Amino acid sequence: MQATTQLIHSIPVDPLTGAVSVPIYQTSTFVQEAPGINKGYDYARSGNPTRAVLENLLAKLEGGETGLAFSSGLAAIDAIAKLLQAGDEIVAVDDIYGGAYRLFTQVYQQFGITIHFVDTSDPEKVFHAITPKTKLIWLETPTNPTLKISDIEAIAKIAKANNCLLCVDNTFASPALQKPLTLGADIVVHSATKYLGGHSDLIAGAVVTKEKALGDKIKFIQNACGAILAPFDSWLVIRGIETLHLRLRQHCATAQEVAEFLEKHPAVDKVYYPGLKTHPNHEVAKKQSKGFGGIVSFSLKQDTLEAAGAFATSTQLFKLAESLGGIKSLISHPATMTHKSIPAEKRKAAGVSDSLVRLSIGLEEAEDLIQDLQAALDTLQLQATPSLQKELA
Ligand SMILES: *Cc1c(COP(=O)(O)O)cnc(C)c1O
Repeated sequence: MQATTQLIHSIPVDPLTGAVSVPIYQTSTFVQEAPGINKGYDYARSGNPTRAVLENLLAKLEGGETGLAFSSGLAAIDAIAKLLQAGDEIVAVDDIYGGAYRLFTQVYQQFGITIHFVDTSDPEKVFHAITPKTKLIWLETPTNPTLKISDIEAIAKIAKANNCLLCVDNTFASPALQKPLTLGADIVVHSATKYLGGHSDLIAGAVVTKEKALGDKIKFIQNACGAILAPFDSWLVIRGIETLHLRLRQHCATAQEVAEFLEKHPAVDKVYYPGLKTHPNHEVAKKQSKGFGGIVSFSLKQDTLEAAGAFATSTQLFKLAESLGGIKSLISHPATMTHKSIPAEKRKAAGVSDSLVRLSIGLEEAEDLIQDLQAALDTLQLQATPSLQKELA
């Protein structure tokens, strides 16, 4: 049986009533027959039947033993960081998600945990950054917003040889395209706010572990610290996952068309999309994922904050907003939005130029999205200085 069919049928019909949709158990506590004797649930922070369906589904989806649902992606990342102790070190991808950067450097650093950032698209650099104190390697692949790709399998071998855990933030690819646990990672983390939820209508996070023993440790942290996902939001994520494969297939196909269109447009400088043969790690992306995802970034020949700002506000279908992975296409300008707090020089060194724009390709028809981008790019070209117009012509 194909994975998608299996997945859809792994969501149980309600054994009590036959309801095809998972019931939302909106309750805080569960009546016990006698102290300690119950039907598997005692208090809804420790466990809730709706959340349990989601957690089992997450484990199945990623090919792991234990799935856990959190109130946000950052709450999920936080639970993993709590596996560490003072003195431990993390080696992380250099263009890590901004919120994770803030958590590790501004919260965990003060508890004595050190983080080293390296360009993980080169596994050798990971190898050289490891010290006897390194306990955790942190990857995102593709990264945000420059869509860098790291070789999960190669880095998993380095992690294993050095007794480190490998955690992959799989938010951008989603398990419909990439399953890091089957490539040797120990933990997968998600902002379920993005593709898993898929409809821009909730904030949620997920953790899946390859081994049950590690899953039990994080489950303990989930209950001890309390950042669980509520029953209604759990239900929404289940509903999102039901169409995950279908949505991702379409996101990928449209993103590829958009990337190829952008690559040919004279006003565009660089296009960042792992599905393009010109992407430096195209072959690694092809090897480890079933598709190249729904995020496309690009920079303009007019490499200024103003040009990018004008462009990002002149599209009609692409709405200017942070976040990604939903039905509606979104556009963002990292230099003035998500990466605003990073000093300009550091930001540019990480490849986030002034004019870099990030697109989250939604489920609209490709030709409409391309027309929207074409019109916005044409407007930009008309506004360019005469000398630049000559150059672009
Ligand atoms: C959005 C995001 C997060 C944080 O998730 P929240 O649900 O917003 O807390 C973490 N990692 C990546 C890659 C993200 O895109």
